[in-house]
Amino acid sequence: MPVPEATAVVSATPSSAPGTRRVLPDAVLFDRDGTLVVDVPYNDDPDRVSPVDGAREALDRLRAAGVPLGVVTNQSGVADGRITPARLAAVNARVEQLLGPFDTWQTCPHGRDDGCGCRKPAPGLVRSACAAVDADPSRCVVIGDIGSDVDAARAAGAVGILVPTPATRPEEIVAAGHVEPDIAAAVDAVLGGRW
Ligand SMILES: [Mg+2]
Ligand SMILES: [Zn+2]
Repeated sequence: MPVPEATAVVSATPSSAPGTRRVLPDAVLFDRDGTLVVDVPYNDDPDRVSPVDGAREALDRLRAAGVPLGVVTNQSGVADGRITPARLAAVNARVEQLLGPFDTWQTCPHGRDDGCGCRKPAPGLVRSACAAVDADPSRCVVIGDIGSDVDAARAAGAVGILVPTPATRPEEIVAAGHVEPDIAAAVDAVLGGRW
Protein backbone atom coordinates (compact mmCIF):
# COMPACT_ATOMS: atom_id res chain seq x y z
CA MET A 1 0.00 0.00 0.00
CA PRO A 2 1.50 3.30 -1.06
CA VAL A 3 2.41 5.71 1.62
CA PRO A 4 0.18 8.71 1.34
CA GLU A 5 2.01 11.74 0.23
CA ALA A 6 2.58 14.38 2.78
CA THR A 7 -0.30 16.75 2.85
CA ALA A 8 0.66 19.90 1.05
CA VAL A 9 0.85 22.84 3.33
CA VAL A 10 -1.87 25.17 2.20
CA SER A 11 -0.73 28.71 2.48
CA ALA A 12 -2.60 30.57 5.12
CA THR A 13 -5.64 32.16 3.60
CA PRO A 14 -6.69 35.44 5.13
CA SER A 15 -10.00 35.16 6.85
CA SER A 16 -12.84 36.75 4.98
CA ALA A 17 -13.41 39.83 7.04
CA PRO A 18 -16.57 41.74 6.25
CA GLY A 19 -15.96 43.80 3.18
CA THR A 20 -13.17 41.56 1.98
CA ARG A 21 -13.74 40.10 -1.45
CA ARG A 22 -11.55 37.98 -3.62
CA VAL A 23 -12.47 39.52 -6.93
CA LEU A 24 -12.29 42.83 -8.66
CA PRO A 25 -15.35 45.05 -8.97
CA ASP A 26 -17.24 45.31 -12.25
CA ALA A 27 -16.30 48.98 -12.46
CA VAL A 28 -14.82 51.81 -10.45
CA LEU A 29 -16.49 55.21 -10.71
CA PHE A 30 -14.79 58.42 -9.64
CA ASP A 31 -16.05 61.79 -8.63
CA ARG A 32 -14.19 64.42 -10.66
CA ASP A 33 -13.65 67.58 -8.62
CA GLY A 34 -11.66 67.06 -5.43
CA THR A 35 -11.12 63.38 -6.27
CA LEU A 36 -9.44 63.13 -9.68
CA VAL A 37 -8.55 66.79 -10.10
CA VAL A 38 -8.01 69.63 -7.67
CA ASP A 39 -11.37 71.26 -7.01
CA VAL A 40 -11.66 74.62 -8.76
CA PRO A 41 -15.30 75.63 -8.15
CA TYR A 42 -17.24 76.07 -11.39
CA ASN A 43 -14.10 75.60 -13.43
CA ASP A 44 -14.69 76.12 -17.13
CA ASP A 45 -11.03 76.55 -18.08
CA PRO A 46 -9.10 73.51 -19.32
CA ASP A 47 -5.85 75.24 -18.35
CA ARG A 48 -6.89 75.14 -14.70
CA VAL A 49 -7.30 71.35 -14.62
CA SER A 50 -4.72 69.92 -12.23
CA PRO A 51 -4.68 66.22 -11.36
CA VAL A 52 -4.67 65.09 -7.77
CA ASP A 53 -1.31 63.63 -6.75
CA GLY A 54 -1.09 59.95 -7.66
CA ALA A 55 -4.29 59.91 -9.68
CA ARG A 56 -2.77 58.93 -13.01
CA GLU A 57 -0.79 56.06 -11.54
CA ALA A 58 -3.78 54.79 -9.56
CA LEU A 59 -6.03 54.89 -12.60
CA ASP A 60 -3.44 53.14 -14.74
CA ARG A 61 -3.22 50.31 -12.21
CA LEU A 62 -6.97 49.76 -12.50
CA ARG A 63 -6.73 49.91 -16.31
CA ALA A 64 -3.93 47.36 -16.25
CA ALA A 65 -6.16 45.10 -14.17
CA GLY A 66 -8.90 45.43 -16.76
CA VAL A 67 -11.35 47.29 -14.54
CA PRO A 68 -13.73 49.62 -16.43
CA LEU A 69 -13.52 53.20 -15.19
CA GLY A 70 -16.08 55.97 -15.10
CA VAL A 71 -16.57 59.54 -13.92
CA VAL A 72 -19.72 60.67 -12.12
CA THR A 73 -19.79 64.44 -11.64
CA ASN A 74 -22.24 67.12 -10.54
CA GLN A 75 -21.87 70.27 -12.65
CA SER A 76 -24.60 72.62 -11.52
CA GLY A 77 -22.67 75.49 -13.13
CA VAL A 78 -24.20 74.33 -16.40
CA ALA A 79 -27.71 74.92 -15.05
CA ASP A 80 -26.99 78.45 -13.90
CA GLY A 81 -24.95 79.46 -16.94
CA ARG A 82 -21.57 79.67 -15.26
CA ILE A 83 -20.30 76.81 -17.41
CA THR A 84 -21.35 76.34 -21.03
CA PRO A 85 -21.73 72.78 -22.31
CA ALA A 86 -18.85 73.41 -24.69
CA ARG A 87 -16.54 74.55 -21.90
CA LEU A 88 -17.57 71.58 -19.77
CA ALA A 89 -16.66 69.29 -22.65
CA ALA A 90 -13.30 71.05 -23.01
CA VAL A 91 -12.53 70.63 -19.31
CA ASN A 92 -13.50 66.97 -19.40
CA ALA A 93 -11.33 66.45 -22.47
CA ARG A 94 -8.42 67.98 -20.60
CA VAL A 95 -9.06 65.61 -17.69
CA GLU A 96 -8.78 62.67 -20.09
CA GLN A 97 -5.67 64.15 -21.69
CA LEU A 98 -3.98 64.26 -18.29
CA LEU A 99 -5.44 61.17 -16.64
CA GLY A 100 -6.15 58.83 -19.55
CA PRO A 101 -9.41 57.54 -20.98
CA PHE A 102 -12.54 56.66 -19.04
CA ASP A 103 -15.08 54.14 -20.25
CA THR A 104 -18.03 56.32 -19.33
CA TRP A 105 -18.68 59.90 -18.28
CA GLN A 106 -21.90 60.74 -16.47
CA THR A 107 -22.52 64.40 -15.73
CA CYS A 108 -25.44 66.01 -13.95
CA PRO A 109 -25.94 69.49 -15.47
CA HIS A 110 -28.88 70.36 -13.21
CA GLY A 111 -29.17 72.78 -10.32
CA ARG A 112 -29.42 71.65 -6.73
CA ASP A 113 -33.10 72.60 -6.58
CA ASP A 114 -34.10 71.08 -9.92
CA GLY A 115 -35.20 67.82 -8.31
CA CYS A 116 -33.44 65.67 -10.90
CA GLY A 117 -32.64 62.05 -10.23
CA CYS A 118 -29.03 62.27 -11.30
CA ARG A 119 -27.44 64.88 -9.05
CA LYS A 120 -25.49 63.13 -6.30
CA PRO A 121 -26.52 62.08 -3.65
CA ALA A 122 -29.32 60.77 -5.91
CA PRO A 123 -28.39 57.45 -7.53
CA GLY A 124 -28.92 58.39 -11.20
CA LEU A 125 -25.34 59.08 -12.25
CA VAL A 126 -24.06 55.91 -10.64
CA ARG A 127 -26.84 53.82 -12.15
CA SER A 128 -26.26 55.30 -15.61
CA ALA A 129 -22.53 54.69 -15.40
CA CYS A 130 -23.09 51.09 -14.36
CA ALA A 131 -25.53 50.58 -17.22
CA ALA A 132 -23.07 52.11 -19.69
CA VAL A 133 -20.35 49.58 -18.84
CA ASP A 134 -22.75 46.68 -18.23
CA ALA A 135 -21.90 46.53 -14.53
CA ASP A 136 -23.96 45.34 -11.60
CA PRO A 137 -24.21 48.33 -9.22
CA SER A 138 -23.71 46.05 -6.23
CA ARG A 139 -20.33 45.15 -7.72
CA CYS A 140 -19.25 48.72 -8.41
CA VAL A 141 -17.11 51.01 -6.29
CA VAL A 142 -17.61 54.77 -6.18
CA ILE A 143 -14.66 56.85 -4.96
CA GLY A 144 -15.32 60.44 -3.96
CA ASP A 145 -14.34 63.22 -1.59
CA ILE A 146 -17.62 64.20 0.06
CA GLY A 147 -20.61 62.59 1.69
CA SER A 148 -22.87 62.95 -1.33
CA ASP A 149 -20.54 60.69 -3.33
CA VAL A 150 -20.80 57.97 -0.70
CA ASP A 151 -24.56 58.54 -0.36
CA ALA A 152 -25.06 58.28 -4.12
CA ALA A 153 -23.19 55.00 -4.09
CA ARG A 154 -25.39 53.67 -1.29
CA ALA A 155 -28.56 54.87 -2.99
CA ALA A 156 -27.58 52.99 -6.14
CA GLY A 157 -26.63 49.87 -4.21
CA ALA A 158 -22.94 50.38 -4.93
CA VAL A 159 -19.96 50.52 -2.57
CA GLY A 160 -18.61 53.93 -1.62
CA ILE A 161 -15.08 54.83 -0.58
CA LEU A 162 -14.45 58.30 0.81
CA VAL A 163 -11.10 59.98 0.18
CA PRO A 164 -11.40 63.17 2.21
CA THR A 165 -9.77 66.47 1.40
CA PRO A 166 -9.30 69.32 3.88
CA ALA A 167 -12.69 70.57 2.64
CA THR A 168 -14.53 67.37 3.57
CA ARG A 169 -16.79 67.88 6.57
CA PRO A 170 -15.86 65.81 9.66
CA GLU A 171 -19.37 64.37 9.96
CA GLU A 172 -19.12 63.07 6.41
CA ILE A 173 -15.94 61.24 7.33
CA VAL A 174 -17.64 59.75 10.38
CA ALA A 175 -20.66 58.66 8.34
CA ALA A 176 -18.65 57.03 5.55
CA GLY A 177 -18.25 53.32 6.02
CA HIS A 178 -14.92 53.17 4.25
CA VAL A 179 -12.35 55.97 4.30
CA GLU A 180 -8.92 55.96 2.65
CA PRO A 181 -6.26 58.66 2.96
CA ASP A 182 -5.64 59.17 -0.75
CA ILE A 183 -6.54 57.87 -4.18
CA ALA A 184 -3.61 55.45 -4.28
CA ALA A 185 -4.74 53.85 -1.02
CA ALA A 186 -8.32 53.66 -2.28
CA VAL A 187 -7.16 51.82 -5.39
CA ASP A 188 -4.96 49.58 -3.25
CA ALA A 189 -8.09 48.62 -1.34
CA VAL A 190 -10.03 47.90 -4.53
CA LEU A 191 -7.25 45.81 -6.09
CA GLY A 192 -6.74 44.04 -2.77
CA GLY A 193 -10.37 42.98 -2.62
CA ARG A 194 -11.08 45.23 0.37
CA TRP A 195 -14.26 46.78 -0.91
MG1 LIG B 1 -15.92 66.18 -5.29
ZN1 LIG C 1 -29.24 65.95 -12.66
